[in-house]
Amino acid sequence: MNDRIEALVLRVDPYKEADGLLQVLSKEHGRLTILARGILKGNSKNAGSVQPITQCSMILDLKEPISLLHSASTIDFYRPIKEDVYRLAVASVIAEIAMQVSTSNQPDDYLYEITKESLSACAVVPPLLAGCLYVSLILKEMGISPMVDGCVVCDDTKITAISVSEGGFVCSRCSKNVTSKSYDANFSRLFRYTVKAEMQHIATLAKQGEYTIELLGVFVDFFKDYTSIPLKSWEFLRKL
Ligand SMILES: [Zn+2]
Repeated sequence: MNDRIEALVLRVDPYKEADGLLQVLSKEHGRLTILARGILKGNSKNAGSVQPITQCSMILDLKEPISLLHSASTIDFYRPIKEDVYRLAVASVIAEIAMQVSTSNQPDDYLYEITKESLSACAVVPPLLAGCLYVSLILKEMGISPMVDGCVVCDDTKITAISVSEGGFVCSRCSKNVTSKSYDANFSRLFRYTVKAEMQHIATLAKQGEYTIELLGVFVDFFKDYTSIPLKSWEFLRKL
């Protein structure tokens, strides 16, 4: 029938001649696969609203396993993201992680909100900051947030390195016995702040220092260590 949803378009794959198969994160029903007929034709009225990294409202027939789109209208096109290849690459990492952690036909208000807000942030703040905070919030939600209040092995507060396999900071003594990588104090401080932060702290985080690809890499390593699923968009961003 005519079901109405609010959704973030995460991915679009061409299907048959001019159709698109959309993967969206909807507020009402979690992840959905939606067939959008004719969107790859030049004159499609829905084409603009169903591009990847777009927030839109849709009217559709909800069906398993594939729903059928009737119409879509854009809520937020995230234009600054579409106009900047680097912002788009970070937003694509956010979208791919949202794909991996969402469940089809299972609403998750929190996941929808942080994904929506991270994409909005990605359009205005330094994109790597938005990426770091998003992955950190996802780790927290999965219950695998890095331990940042001291050495994860012995509790020593003098930490010198980060160990993904051990799950957080390690001291110089313990770092010799585990797989870890040393970082300077500034890097570790920014990592700790981000782990502790919630979405509403993003403006404060922006003043703490420069969010680098290395920092996002550490967060992504924690995510990948747990999921073991390749993250194509991350490989692309790393090479930019
Ligand atoms: Zn230790």
